[in-house]
Amino acid sequence: MNELEEPIDALGIRPGTALFVHSSLKAVGHGVRAEALIEGLRAAVGAEGTLLFPTFTDRQEGYFDPAQTPSTMGVVAEVFRQMPNTLRSRHPRHPVAAQGPAAQALLKGHEETVGPCGADTPFERHARSGGQVLLIGVDLDTLTLLHTAEALLDLPYLNQIEGRYLGTDGLIRTSTMRQAPGGHRGGVRGFEKVLKNRGLIRYGRIGRARTMLLDAGPALDAMVEILTADPAAALCRGECCPDCVDFKGKIRAQQLASLGAEISVFLPQMPDDPEMFAEMLARFGCPARFTTIDAQPIVRLAEGETPPAPPADGQDWILQPAPGDLVCIETVPEGYAGLAYAPLEAARAGLQPFYGVLYKGRCRDLITDIFAADGIAGLGGFSASSLGYLDNLLPDGNVALGEGQAQLREIVSALRMRSFAGRYHLVVPDGNPYAETLRLLREFWNLLPPSTHN
Ligand SMILES: [Zn+2]
Repeated sequence: MNELEEPIDALGIRPGTALFVHSSLKAVGHGVRAEALIEGLRAAVGAEGTLLFPTFTDRQEGYFDPAQTPSTMGVVAEVFRQMPNTLRSRHPRHPVAAQGPAAQALLKGHEETVGPCGADTPFERHARSGGQVLLIGVDLDTLTLLHTAEALLDLPYLNQIEGRYLGTDGLIRTSTMRQAPGGHRGGVRGFEKVLKNRGLIRYGRIGRARTMLLDAGPALDAMVEILTADPAAALCRGECCPDCVDFKGKIRAQQLASLGAEISVFLPQMPDDPEMFAEMLARFGCPARFTTIDAQPIVRLAEGETPPAPPADGQDWILQPAPGDLVCIETVPEGYAGLAYAPLEAARAGLQPFYGVLYKGRCRDLITDIFAADGIAGLGGFSASSLGYLDNLLPDGNVALGEGQAQLREIVSALRMRSFAGRYHLVVPDGNPYAETLRLLREFWNLLPPSTHN
């Protein structure tokens, strides 16, 4: 019996379980040998139990050889890998090492799976077979099972890579895999609260190291649930982590595509670095292409004015009638491709932009373009007199999209449910075009349902 057996006994490891271990030997303390830790864990799972370690490799120049290629996952995994009775899967990037009766069944065919951590990999099989995961001195962000959840949901930020490995037949083979790229997952620590509240984490200690013991199956289900509700839940908030900003751009592009609508940005002038500007737009799911307003003219119509005939040059024109006209328009006038609606103008005219114009009006299905602007308009007939103090603000005070009188939140959510396939135009005011556009994009995304909030 070694000195670690007693603390390991207290962790709650089920005898006979398949235990997947992520560890930092340094965290356990000086003078602790990897062999002693492995021996203690072996004793905890017993002869019927199976022990697994990640033995991932750095991107190697040549090919992966399960017998030779070292692991970069810490000293315990590396010692475990080299033990005589250890099996190792052949996956070129995410090989797993295992000892015990279930080892063969959990590891086999890993190199042929679609992704290194997804369906039918050792990680998923381990979770589905009632296994436990033990984190020793490392946090949830080392939990490979997170990537299993990402892979099962095929999140938009997964990418395609290749790896070469030595096959069982002695030939070098190439596998193409769809994987969750490495890099930051700043949001993962937020998962701990959910897992803990569901009683899925048991905390403990070995030497100086804090430990977390999880039931892999329910933990995987919980992470799938979290990521289904918010595909960006594992990522950093804000705009300062390059990996996560990139991943969130991919999520937003997919969310926007599922919305069926487009966001367009109206700029007072071209930004000084259009390429960089386009990159910023892409991070918010906007197609990065510049056109001038002349390419698809929007004709403004004053109250009571009849639409002029568009020139017969085959161009699609869009009519922007006065708010009052919108209420009674039944068909798009000939020669026009659709109607544009500026709800803030309706608010300024004393109408209720959603309940009065869009909801009750006849133009609803004819609108192809919406100017997403919001503000405190001069309070018209519909507002409560108790809000009269707002009249003393700037006469045209701009407020965040969804917080003014344009009823944008209602408009966007109603149109989302009606599969509106038009364009939301964000009209960028004068000023720093980067700052103003970023602000508007963030505000617009905040109008969308919670899963698109990042
Ligand atoms: Zn990040």
